[in-house]
Order: sequence, then C-alpha cells, then structure tokens
Amino acid sequence: MNGFETELKARLEEIRSQGLYRELHRINSAQGRQIEIEGRHYLNFSSNDYLGLANEPALKDAAIRAVEKFGSGSGASRLICGSLAPHHELEETLAEFKGTEAALVFSSGYAAALGTICALLGKNDVIILDKLCHASIVDAARLSGARLRVFAHNDLNNLEELLQWATQAGASVSAANKHSRPQPLIVTESLFSMDGDQAPLHELAELKDRYGAWLMVDEAHATGLYGPCRRGLAEAHGVSDRIEIQMGTLGKALGAVGGYICGSRALVEFLINRARSFIFSTAPIPAAAAAARAGVCLVRSHAGAERCTHLWERVRQFSEKTRPACASGGLATEIPETMEPARAEAKSSAIIPLLIGDATETVSAAARLRSEGIYVPAIRFPTVARGSGRLRLTITAAHTLEDVNELVAALNRFGLIPPSALHPPHS
Ligand SMILES: *Cc1c(COP(=O)(O)O)cnc(C)c1O
Repeated sequence: MNGFETELKARLEEIRSQGLYRELHRINSAQGRQIEIEGRHYLNFSSNDYLGLANEPALKDAAIRAVEKFGSGSGASRLICGSLAPHHELEETLAEFKGTEAALVFSSGYAAALGTICALLGKNDVIILDKLCHASIVDAARLSGARLRVFAHNDLNNLEELLQWATQAGASVSAANKHSRPQPLIVTESLFSMDGDQAPLHELAELKDRYGAWLMVDEAHATGLYGPCRRGLAEAHGVSDRIEIQMGTLGKALGAVGGYICGSRALVEFLINRARSFIFSTAPIPAAAAAARAGVCLVRSHAGAERCTHLWERVRQFSEKTRPACASGGLATEIPETMEPARAEAKSSAIIPLLIGDATETVSAAARLRSEGIYVPAIRFPTVARGSGRLRLTITAAHTLEDVNELVAALNRFGLIPPSALHPPHS
C-alpha cells in the first residue's frame, strides 16, 4: 500500500525511541476507586472522577430514564431536528448552578473550547494564553487565526507586557481601519490540569479590565470542588461576575461527558449562531445530558458537600503522610498546618504531580506501581513540556484511608518519595 504502513511504522518507532509511545489499557469494570484490567484489580489513582460520580446510581438512573423516554440517539444537530428537552434541562440547571444568565452544552470540553474561541475571535484579534493551558485551548487559538501570544505560567508581569503590546498593535490596526479594533482575549485554566496549581483569578480580572480585554476561564478541574456552592475557583475567588466566558467539562467531577460554556444570554445566543463545533455536530445523546444534570444536582446538594469534605480529607491525609517530600519540592500539594480547614481546601488540589523528568523513566515508574496494583498515568510530552515527565496522581472522594495508605506505601517502596530522614518537615 504505497509504503503507507512502512512510513507509519517508522514514525511509531521514532515515538517509541523517545519513550513517548502511548497505548490503551483495556479495563473491564466501571470507573471507581478500583478498576479491573485482565482479571487483576488495581487501585485507581488516575481518574478525574474527583467526586466518584461516574458510577453513581443517581446519574445512572437519570441516564436510563432518558434512554427510555428519548431513545439512544439524538438524531442530528440541535438546530436541525429540534433540540431535546434533556439538553435544555441541563443548560437551565448549569446556569442556575453557576449563577449565570445562560449556558450552552457541547459534546465535549474540547469542542466547547474550539467552537467558542473560533466564534469569538478572527484574524484581527489577539489571544493570550497561559503557557500551561490545555491542548483544546491551544488548538482553538491556532484554528481561530487570531494572533497568538503565550505568557509564562501565572506571570502577571509577562501578561501585562503582552496586553500593552496588543493595545499598541490595536492602535495601528484601528488607525488603518476604524471598524476593526482587535479584541484581546485572555484564556487560562483556573486549576491547572497537570500541575494542580491555581491561576491568580482576581489579578487576571484586574488586568483584563485595565486593558479592555475579555477573560475566558477553563474550570475543567475545579467545577464541583471549590467555592461555597462548589461552582469552581471563580466562585471561591469571588470573580465569577467578572469573567466573560466560563468554560468547563461535564466529564470530570460532574461524572458524565460533555462541555459547557456559561455566561450571558447574548454569549449563548451568539454561540448557537456561530460556534461551528456546536452547529455542525450531532447533539450529545439524551442519556449524557441527563446524567450530567443529575451530576450537577448531586454536586449542589448536601451529598455533594459531603463528597467534597471527604475528598479534601483524603488529600490532607495523603499530604500529611508525604509532607517531608512536599517540603523537598517533590510534590505540589502541601497544606500548611496553620491554615483553617476551609482555607486549606481552597489552596489544595486533588491533582498531585510527582515529577520524574525523563519520559522512559516516567513510564517505568508507572509500570512499577502497576506491578504493585496501583494504577497511575505516566504523563509525558506533548501533554507536558519535554523533560518534565511525571506521574499524575489524582485522589477522589471514593478513596478510603486504606487506599491512601497503600498508595503512600507503594510510593515509598519505590523511592518515589524521598525518605523522610533526608527531608525533615518544615518547622
Ligand atoms: C479535560 C479538559 C478539557 C477537555 O474537556 P473534555 O470534556 O474532556 O473534552 C479542557 N480543558 C481542560 C483543562 C481539561 O483538563
């Protein structure tokens, strides 16, 4: 076949030689604290199902009822064959949850980023991203054709320089053509997916106001986990009403699948008219919308608050048992002892990156943990920068204290946490 196979095999060999080969591990169970691969059970510290909702009866029941009433498929794009009630119910619930005028649901967070950024920006505009923004945002920025600038991770000075540049670039374009003042858009994640640290949302809102930019915040890893109503970090930082575009996924803490945009009615109406990944794609199946809505309802309820308490308790326990390693800089999550529980939660994260560096070593560290019955992903380029391979542990509300103990013991056995004798805790 025209050397097609030979060419692909050569490319795969190249990927393998760099330690960057990826493969699927088939699991024969639902997502949860334990998963089954080829008849063996593993403790699962890999999933973004932070509240343990992916296999929750309330969500499954909602999905089953939606299948019974609305069928398994969705027929066409929502603009073509009519827009099914479960999608509207989900959007109403999401808008209420987030405290915004409106919401729009996409088939994935990736599709939400792509559709929204490309709808809002054209080639005269400027998009400014945090260096660690998710691939969906980077791809969207490229596809939009807008001039793309990247600021160093969480570096407000660098961002301000770029905003100044955008203003100057804007002045010259406006002089040439009065009708097309370039619009700058700043995009960041609120909780960074591979590092577990937070963006300075308040300062970002100040800067975007000062320079007349718009702000889009991706809450993929924060929705359901932070803030008094668990809306996300925008709520926790008190800046929800200063963010033009709030984005997130229904596939992580919310336990289902899909992406959403929350914001003004005008934003949602505009996206319905202009977001190509919304317009030219079959609507998500009714079961997905119903499960996601049940996920949002659960998160908002007392049970949701309890799940969060449980999650932060496990994160705190992990952090205490590995505190010496935290002090050495090996782990990003450390909860200062002097903090009150609520404030400590606001600063901590269920994402715990264990930096290894070399890609091949990262893969073999993950394989060693699997041999001990612990499943964690080896995160490598291009998900993270070259040379910053890491194990990305995620703790969920479904884990027990015994699970955490087992994880810490396995990490210790493999020397993945420096021995405490070498790294005495902070005083
Ligand atoms: C997972 C993720 C997305 C994409 O969401 P999906 O619903 O999985 O497509 C977008 N942004 C960030 C930061 C993510 O982690």
